[in-house]
Amino acid sequence: MAMKRLQTITEEQREDVLCPVCGKKVVALEYKLGKGDEVLSHVNCECWLKEIEEEDRRFEAQKAAIDLDKRQKAAGMSRFELKQRFENDDGRYTEATQKCLDYVKRFDKMKEKGRGLLIYGGMGTGKTFMSNCVANALMEKGVNVRRISLVKLLNFRISMDNINTMNEVVETLKSAGLVVIDDYGVERDTPYIDENIFAIIDTLYNDGVPMVITTNLNAEQLRKNPNAVKARSHERILENVVIVRMVGDSRRPALAAQAKMDTEMIFSAE
Ligand SMILES: [Zn+2]
Repeated sequence: MAMKRLQTITEEQREDVLCPVCGKKVVALEYKLGKGDEVLSHVNCECWLKEIEEEDRRFEAQKAAIDLDKRQKAAGMSRFELKQRFENDDGRYTEATQKCLDYVKRFDKMKEKGRGLLIYGGMGTGKTFMSNCVANALMEKGVNVRRISLVKLLNFRISMDNINTMNEVVETLKSAGLVVIDDYGVERDTPYIDENIFAIIDTLYNDGVPMVITTNLNAEQLRKNPNAVKARSHERILENVVIVRMVGDSRRPALAAQAKMDTEMIFSAE
């Protein structure tokens, strides 16, 4: 189509045209298309070209802002949470913050491995804040983030009869670039809830969707859960997360597998 049109255009040079930006006399080239009255003109002035480039940049920036706005609206985060950023971090847990920053920086590599974060700490340690910082930074990098609370999802929104909705939830989560699960492990203990949590975790695990999970249960507590269905969920999670500790002390990771994942994240090629 484009080729045909090019064959039928006529080129015309016009002297003494004023540049629409600087006002100086310049040469303009006008291309008249074969059919219709369409005219493409090109003013041969550097400042005019700069103006066009500037316009392109403005357009791209505007598009990026609109895209970010869309991602933020779809993330399931409140306006307050969308404002939580690493810049506002109080620096109480330097190592934890650094791990989260490393994760954001190397997210492409982490995503290839389906690797997530397990942010562990007690009440008031700021683990939810930290997970929101990760979510916001990644959304700015163009990642589609979905944040969920399993308690809200399973206790209030979905009933047993509504299995389609549950499938829809899983499908929506599968299509995300990253799923943040806030306050994991405080759900009620019922077979229905346990099975649904496993369905969500197992699907994300199998599809390689990275999870950022905040919890007040440490790795040992997760690993040793007596509930068999829960233990299966925890096993999936622990298999592919970097553990971020937001607790009083900051000892080195106890397990060799964890130490390896830490190292991989820090030194993986960019
Ligand atoms: Zn000019």
